[in-house]
Amino acid sequence: MNRKPLVAGNWKMNKTAAEARELVSKLSAPLREITDVEKVLCPPFMSIPAMHALLDTSHGIGLGAQNMHWEEKGAFTGEIAANMVKEFCNYIILGHSERRAYFGESDETVNRKLRAALKFDLIPIVCVGETLDQYESGLTAEVVRRQIKQGFAEIDSAAASRIVVAYEPVWAIGTGKASSGENANAVHGKVIRPALSELFGENNAQAIRILYGGSVTASNASEFFAMSDIDGALVGSASLKADEFVAITKAAQASMR
Ligand code: PEP
Repeated sequence: MNRKPLVAGNWKMNKTAAEARELVSKLSAPLREITDVEKVLCPPFMSIPAMHALLDTSHGIGLGAQNMHWEEKGAFTGEIAANMVKEFCNYIILGHSERRAYFGESDETVNRKLRAALKFDLIPIVCVGETLDQYESGLTAEVVRRQIKQGFAEIDSAAASRIVVAYEPVWAIGTGKASSGENANAVHGKVIRPALSELFGENNAQAIRILYGGSVTASNASEFFAMSDIDGALVGSASLKADEFVAITKAAQASMR
């Protein structure tokens, strides 16, 4: 199955709108030249309208938000709904481990958000991954399988192929201690894709892209992209540096040859 590689930058709570414009001015020309890879930038909400105006997503650089609410509107102070995201973005990150750890997100809330995102035609990038304790206790497969089965419950198989999964071991995020390509590939191929297959059937599961995330840099990106079941990367801190992010995206393109 030919799955187009996807490289997404999660800027987290970094960059003012002015700083975001500056970073985009460095990224847009080199990223546009990398045509075989889907590129997505996920800045903080406040920068999204400015970036939308600058990027013109028809030029092949997608825009995503980092979170949203599952309700369509109403008395939810401080929240943003899927149709508001959709005015500017095509992608939405859901269930990032920082949202699970600091803002009480669960597989159930991820599932509600996922259903709302699909309803409004966003491409969800759903994050799963085990903590260090769980990794050390040998619970990776159990935890990740549960996150997939519960997070993706009652999703229509026809919509499933639009979903992107990001396997992000929590112990690898922001620590500089990336997983090995082989370890991540085994989780993708032996845990995540089989769980997706149980939910959506083998053909749909084969079409779903599974990204790796956790301390991806320009120096280790090729190791991940060389793996059969790794279809791209969700990149945190390295996405804040134009040269690094472009180099990671080029590594994804090179892996296709
Ligand atoms: C992330 O937060 O999604 C992430 C992968 O961060 P980092 O690349 O900094 O580890």
